[in-house]
Amino acid sequence: MDTDLRSSKKQAFLDLLKKRGIQDKRVLEAMATVPREAFVGLDLAELAYDDSPLPIENGQTISQPYIVALMTEAMQLRPSDTVLEIGTGSGYAAAVLSRIVKQVYTIERHRGLAEQARERLSSLGYDNVSVRCGDGTLGWPEHAPFDAIVVTAGGPSVPLSLTRQLVIGGRLIIPVGQSLHDQKLQRITRVSEDDIRTEELGGVRFVPLIGEEGWRDVEGRLNRPPPGKVEPAAALSEQIRSQAIHIPSIESVDLGGLLSRIGDSRLVLLGEASHGTAEFYEMRARITRELIEKKGFHFVAVEADWPDAAQIDHFVRETRKEPTQELTFSRFPTWMWANRQVANFVQWLRHHNRQADTGDQAVGFFGLDLYSLYSSINAIIGYLEQVDTEAAAVARERYGCLTPWEKDPATYGRVALTRQQLSCEQDVVAMLNMLMQKRLEYSAHDGRRFLDAVSNARLVKNAEHFYRSMYDGSVKSWNLRDQHMFDTLESLLDFHGPDSKAIVWAHNSHLGNAEATEMGSRGEINVGSLCRQRFGETAYLIGFGTHQGTVAAASDWGAPMEVKNIVPSTPDSYERLCHDAGLNAFFLPLRHGEKNLVKELQRPRLERAIGVIYRPETEIASHYFIASLSRQFDEYIWFDKTRAVDALGPEAGKGMPETFPFGL
Ligand code: SAM
Repeated sequence: MDTDLRSSKKQAFLDLLKKRGIQDKRVLEAMATVPREAFVGLDLAELAYDDSPLPIENGQTISQPYIVALMTEAMQLRPSDTVLEIGTGSGYAAAVLSRIVKQVYTIERHRGLAEQARERLSSLGYDNVSVRCGDGTLGWPEHAPFDAIVVTAGGPSVPLSLTRQLVIGGRLIIPVGQSLHDQKLQRITRVSEDDIRTEELGGVRFVPLIGEEGWRDVEGRLNRPPPGKVEPAAALSEQIRSQAIHIPSIESVDLGGLLSRIGDSRLVLLGEASHGTAEFYEMRARITRELIEKKGFHFVAVEADWPDAAQIDHFVRETRKEPTQELTFSRFPTWMWANRQVANFVQWLRHHNRQADTGDQAVGFFGLDLYSLYSSINAIIGYLEQVDTEAAAVARERYGCLTPWEKDPATYGRVALTRQQLSCEQDVVAMLNMLMQKRLEYSAHDGRRFLDAVSNARLVKNAEHFYRSMYDGSVKSWNLRDQHMFDTLESLLDFHGPDSKAIVWAHNSHLGNAEATEMGSRGEINVGSLCRQRFGETAYLIGFGTHQGTVAAASDWGAPMEVKNIVPSTPDSYERLCHDAGLNAFFLPLRHGEKNLVKELQRPRLERAIGVIYRPETEIASHYFIASLSRQFDEYIWFDKTRAVDALGPEAGKGMPETFPFGL
C-alpha cells in the first residue's frame, strides 16, 4: 500500500476512534504513533487500519483498535505508571501502552507468539516493554505491584492473583463472562488492602483466558475449574489429614477445642454448603447448644424470614402456646427450616429455656431474611391494632400501596421502576419512621413486641427496595439482602445489650467472608464480610463442606423438593482435597491452624455451593466458584458423605408447616 493511502486510512481510523468516544489525547497519540501494520502479517497489512480484529498465529487475534483504545483509556494511565498486560498476542497493545507509561510487562501463554512479539518490539525500538511466556492469570509477582493491569482475553471470573498485584488505587481491566458469547468488560479498582470496586464497561467478545485462574483447556474443550497453584494435591491432602481434628460422631465429639478456639468471640457464624444437608444442621445444633450452655450465648439468628422465625421464638420461649393464623415456613423452600433436624433443635431450646427459667432472658430465635413482605405487613398492622388503633389505620393505608402486588412482588419492582409514581418507597419509609418516633411510648408496653414490629417495618422497607433493585442487577439486590440481614443482626445485638453474643445459621455464601471469594471481586458483600469489618476477630466464621451423598433441593425456583444425589467433588476443589484426606468428618482450624497449611489454603481454588436449587447436570458452571478458603473462614467443618434433611413439610406428605413447630 502506498504511504499516502496508508496515512489517509490512518487519519480516518483516528477520526473514527474519536467519533466512537475515545477522548484521552495520550491514547489517541499513542494509537497514531504505533504502526499497526508492523504487528500483522504482510498479507494483512492492507487491513491494518480497518477497525476490526485480525487473525495472528496460533489461532489468536490482534484486538480491534477501538477496543485497544477503549481498554487503554479505561486504565486511566499516568506517565509514571508500571503496567501489566496479559495476552501479548502480536505485541501491538503493549506497544501502544509503552508510549503512555514508564514500563510495560506483558505475558503470553503461546511461546511462539511471545518470542515473535519480543523480537518485533525490540526491533521497533519499544525498549520499555518486557515480554514473558507463561500463565498470565497468576500475574508477574516479581514486578508487582502494578498501577494498572489489562487482560486481553476473557475469563470466567476475575483472577484473585491479579487483583492482589494491584497497588491501592490500581485498575484492572478484564473481560469476564460465564461463556465466550457473554463477556462484560469490567474495571476493578483496588480501593483498599481488602476492598475492590467493580464497574461494568459494556459487552465484548475476546478469545478465552486460559490458565490456572481462568478457563481450563481440557482436550481442546473449555472447562470452568481454574485450579489454584498449590502444593501437589496429594501432599496437601496429607497435611490436611495431619491437622484435622477427627469427628467420630456429631453427638459424641468433644467440642472443648473448638470452644477454646472460639474464645471470647461475640459472634459465631455457622455456615452450610447446601440448604438441605442433615449433618450441617445437626452439627450446627450441637455447637449452638454448647455455646448457649457453656458460653452463655443469648440468641440464634437464622437465614429465615422474621415472622416465621418469630413463631419459633414464641415456641422456644413459651410466650405463645398456639400457632397464629399465619402459616409458618409455608413459603418455598419449606424444607430449609421445616425439617426434623431443626425441629429437634427447637425442642431442645424450649427445654433449655424452661430448665434455665430465665424468663425474659430466655435464648431467642430470630430470622434475618427479607422475603416476607406481606406477612411482615400483617404482623405490623396486627401489632398496631393492639397498641394504637389510629396508627393501625395509617399503616393499613400506607402499606395498601403494596397490596395489589401480593401475588408477585417482583412485578411491583418492575412496574415501580418504569412508572415512578407507583413507587411505595415513601410510604414504607414513613411507616418505619413513625414506629421509631413512637419507640419510647410503644416499647414501654412490651420491648420485645416493639422489637418484633420495628424489625418487620425495617424488613418491609428493605424488601420494597429489594424488589425494585432486582432489575438493576444481581449484585445490587444481593448486597441489599445481605446488608438487611447484617443490620437486623446488629439491631438484635443492640436489643440484647452491649455484652450480648449471637450465633448465626446461614449458607456459607452469606457467612464466609465474601472478600475472599469471586463474589468479592464482583463487588458483592455479605454478612460474613460485614461482620468482619464491624466486629473484626470477635466474629468467628465457620464453613462446612461435603464430598458426596444426598441433598434436599429443587430443580427450579418454586419446584417440588427432591432428594438428589450429590456429584462427587471435582478435582481442583477444596472439597476434593478434603475428601482425599481420607477422614469421614473433621474440624480444620484455619485461624488457629498450622501456618504452612493455612498459606496453601489461601491459594484460590474451586469451592462448591449448593443452594435451594441443585443442578448436577451443569454442576461446575452452576455450583462452583473460586475462593480462598483460609481467608474466607476461621474454621472448616467437613463431612465426607452426607444425607438429605428429613423434611416435615408437604414433601413429607404430612402437611406439617401449618402447625410447625407447635404440632410436633
Ligand atoms: N493484546 C494482543 C495484541 O495486541 O495483539 C491481542 C491479544 S489476543 C486478543 C489474546 C491473547 O491472550 C492470545 O494471544 C492468547 O494466547 C493470550 N492468552 C490467553 N490466555 C492467556 C494466559 N493465561 N496468559 C497469557 N496469555 C494468555
